[in-house]
Amino acid sequence: MQYNETRERSAELLRIVIGHMGQHDAAFNPISYSVWYEYAAGLNERLNEALDRLRQSEPRLSDASIERLYREHIAGVDDKTMDRISRDFQQVINAVADRVQRTGEDAGAFGAELNNLSRVLSSTEDPAVLRERLQLAHQHSVGMQASAAALKAQVEASRQEIQRLRNDLHRAREEVFVDSLTRVLNRKGLDHRLEQLLRPPLAANAAHSLVMVDIDHFKQINDTHGHLVGDQVLAGMGELLRRVVNGPHQLVARYGGEEFAVVLPEASLDTAAQVAERIRHAAKAMKLRKRNAPEVVLSVTVSAGAAALQPGESANDWIARADAALYRSKQSGRDRVSLAA
Ligand code: GH3
Ligand code: MG
Ligand code: MG
Repeated sequence: MQYNETRERSAELLRIVIGHMGQHDAAFNPISYSVWYEYAAGLNERLNEALDRLRQSEPRLSDASIERLYREHIAGVDDKTMDRISRDFQQVINAVADRVQRTGEDAGAFGAELNNLSRVLSSTEDPAVLRERLQLAHQHSVGMQASAAALKAQVEASRQEIQRLRNDLHRAREEVFVDSLTRVLNRKGLDHRLEQLLRPPLAANAAHSLVMVDIDHFKQINDTHGHLVGDQVLAGMGELLRRVVNGPHQLVARYGGEEFAVVLPEASLDTAAQVAERIRHAAKAMKLRKRNAPEVVLSVTVSAGAAALQPGESANDWIARADAALYRSKQSGRDRVSLAA
């Protein structure tokens, strides 16, 4: 992110940011500063939405929450990873360049030797001189072969190394889109993938469906057993969703707090309802044991809302309709699935 605010404007923001930071529990560090700066300056719509939403359930934001907002809405691929990968790339390229140069020098010497040989062949008939020259040329040609073979091996090794680095880079880029607690996509990842899904206009007769899933009375779990157990439940829910939603191109994302989005491309509302029911049953069947008190067994229920994409509809509107259906599930007693009209 580039910051283009003038000195005066940024001074004004500084005062606002300090005001915000004072009202929360997170430390006064650069991460928290960036979050509040972008928030106050209104530079990052998603961040503001997520922060406002989070603040409703957590009036004093903790370090963990601020860090998560930073990671999901501000940070790119982390600098250390980027540095390591580009240094490794540089090394691979240097090694190949060295090897090419050495082979080039060997080839130059070999060429000179051949020139020499041709000159000697045309100017002398002394068999001893000829034999000596031929032997030398032969030695050089063997050396040249070894050098070419070394170059080939080096190029092959580098090709593999570069593939490994590309995979690393890909993984590092993808990691930015993954929620570290639940190992499903984070909000940024969901936005990115929805944008890809919705870019081509919806073909006639095609349908994409979306299910929003929210854990029921999750606050009670936190209040009764503590935040760490709450986190354990969220991680368990991530695992469950990854297991149940496993079709090609199907996506699971943590939409926020204890709410998840399941995207089912090329699936009808009927199919979405079936997937939602499968999730609901699996959630009910899930038994979580508290780590330090295994006799305490937690169980949860979830409510869900499903909506099929309408032609021309934006991702936000689509999510809002699924969310409204989810709200109806909550209103009518939770542990159920509702479908958007
Ligand atoms: P409902 O059935 O209506 O959904 O009630 P609820 O208690 O599940 O919903 P509510 O929105 O009142 O509370 C959600 C809670 O989730 C409050 C918030 O502190 C907690 N939460 C959000 N993110 C996290 C997290 O990362 N870890 C933990 N442990 N709790 C979280
Ligand atoms: Mg809930
Ligand atoms: Mg919720």
